[in-house]
Amino acid sequence: MRLRHFLTGLAIALSLSMGLNMGVGAPAMAEPLAKQLFGSKSEASRQKPAPFGSYAKGCVAGAVQLPETGPTWQAMRLSRNRNWGHPDAIDFIKDLSSFAATQPGWKGLYIGDISQPRGGPMLTGHRSHQIGLDVDIWMLPTSRINLSRQTRENISSVSLRRNKGAFVNDNWSRAHHNIIREAARDKRVARIFVFPGAKVQMCKDEKGNRRYLRKIRPWYGHHYHFHVRLNCPRGARGCTEQAAPPKGDGCAEAQKWVNDILNPPPPKPRDPNAPPPKKRREYVMADLPNQCASVLRSQ
Ligand SMILES: [Zn+2]
Repeated sequence: MRLRHFLTGLAIALSLSMGLNMGVGAPAMAEPLAKQLFGSKSEASRQKPAPFGSYAKGCVAGAVQLPETGPTWQAMRLSRNRNWGHPDAIDFIKDLSSFAATQPGWKGLYIGDISQPRGGPMLTGHRSHQIGLDVDIWMLPTSRINLSRQTRENISSVSLRRNKGAFVNDNWSRAHHNIIREAARDKRVARIFVFPGAKVQMCKDEKGNRRYLRKIRPWYGHHYHFHVRLNCPRGARGCTEQAAPPKGDGCAEAQKWVNDILNPPPPKPRDPNAPPPKKRREYVMADLPNQCASVLRSQ
């Protein structure tokens, strides 16, 4: 290990003297990436349940596995082993799916990624979903709740968007509105990400109390699934809450997203003196909260 430290030091000294900027791209010499360490864990830690850090930089202790099939849900893509979450997330899924089962043509919910067994960064896919409090829920109506493992690997969800997300398409239904509304009304939920056309449609169709619309946030993608982000659980001191969404129903903001899709604003002129954009660095353990080292080490 001494030799490695010496070599790392040497590399830094050399790069400094050469005026190179370390920290862009690969981390210094062979330090394992957090996504490799967390991606190789197949079981949760035997610890008290606790999220540590923030949605896109953290981990989760004592996660619970969502049963592969329940009365009103099925976990999809089981080979990914991402059906683990904080107990709040698992309870939320059970509750929302039993509501979904009351909708015509729906027997419950198909659940996409939650988190890895110990959360943390992933080898592929998301940046968030790291602390067991993010849940992807498929837009595909659940006509059956007895899909085989193999079918759950192979079938696709359905896209609800038209015109690059400016509008919903014919697959959108009142059930989608009702299920997303029910999720947004849940006190455990902080925000929901969905494509802009869906939010605008919900804004138009909602004739009752509109307060829940504040939590529904237009975002890129999210037309095959919607993404539910839960609040930090009560008393979870290591969990970093995201700032609340802006006040109001957010409908004008969603409409602006739609307008920008339909009539893209001209690209901003590039400042010729601006430094080149920094590449996002892959996290190593030192980037994550300290508690994540014990989550990783724990039985
Ligand atoms: Zn997601």
